Amino acid sequence: MRTIYDLNYKQMEQMLAEHGQKSYRTKQLFTWLYRKRAQSFTEMSDLPKSLTEQLQEEFSMEPLKEISRQTARDGTVKYLFEMEDGASVEAVLMHFHFGDSLCVSSQVGCNMGCTFCASGLLKKQRDLTAGEMVKEVLYVQKELDQTGGRVDNIVIMGTGEPFDNYDNVMRFCEIINSDLGLAIGARHITISTCGIVPRIDDFAAGHYQYNLAISLHAPDDELRRKLMPIDKAYPLDVLMASLRRYSNDNHRRLTFEYILLRDVNDTDDHARKLASLIRGMNAYVNLIPYNPVDEHGYRSADDKKALRFYDVLMKNGVKATLRARHGDDIDAACGQLRARHEKDKNGS
Ligand code: SAH
Repeated sequence: MRTIYDLNYKQMEQMLAEHGQKSYRTKQLFTWLYRKRAQSFTEMSDLPKSLTEQLQEEFSMEPLKEISRQTARDGTVKYLFEMEDGASVEAVLMHFHFGDSLCVSSQVGCNMGCTFCASGLLKKQRDLTAGEMVKEVLYVQKELDQTGGRVDNIVIMGTGEPFDNYDNVMRFCEIINSDLGLAIGARHITISTCGIVPRIDDFAAGHYQYNLAISLHAPDDELRRKLMPIDKAYPLDVLMASLRRYSNDNHRRLTFEYILLRDVNDTDDHARKLASLIRGMNAYVNLIPYNPVDEHGYRSADDKKALRFYDVLMKNGVKATLRARHGDDIDAACGQLRARHEKDKNGS
């Protein structure tokens, strides 16, 4: 059965019109779902009973089922959820001084094949629907409601490549961004892509206010290709040209993500090359410590090297941030918890 959380405001309005309802009912229903965070149609007391009965027959309000969670010393919580077809997805809640951020997954598994990433250990089974992504957020928000907390920021950086599931991801963003619902500000929503250029172009053409982050991880094609197969389809000159267009047309600041991998991409030379690639753009580099994935054999650059890399970027005119570790005492790397769960399930 289709979940009601799949529908954006407009689609809900249309659906209700087809049921002979006036348009003000949309606001009521949306409010019940996202403001009052109802658990069932039956509690929606200001809607006609005949309508809630119809909705109940046509739509599911079933939440995601939590199958396990890990809580790190710093309070980071990693959830593993099961969906109606038995497939599982992860989401991670992190506490920052600027608020709580939820990292959501956009696909079951991933086909991008980045050689350092745990998500790709399990090939893509399917895309998530918009509603399933909404349910990741609602589950955590309902939990935070108990202590008056709020999901302030969304990063689409969990398992999956959001631009390989473009339409559902954009609808998801629209639903959580809606003023009448969870009202998570567009500038508090970040979409992270490995660099699927045609979708970056679509995103640019849509003039969305969401933040865009690009997983770069290498300053030249030779190395990037070894780490990220997507570079073969969209090499750096093509990617950077698309990003420059986006940035110029939209006047938005870009984020480049760069995981520091020991002895792979962490030398002064890499930093200088990276700086010359980015210099002059309205962008900054987010240097990310690597969460080791046993199966891949990469290690994180040591802290001294990371600081040095940061310095070289700054000296060469590129702004950067050095991200602190979060939840590295749990299976925090994207896809790690799920990969472990699937392994245990199969008894291997
Ligand atoms: N497919 C998208 C979003 C998911 S990955 C993308 O590539 O951007 C989100 C970020 O986490 C990416 O920058 C990715 O490269 C990074 N990442 C993947 N595995 C990691 C690990 N083990 N440690 C640290 N970052 C990792």
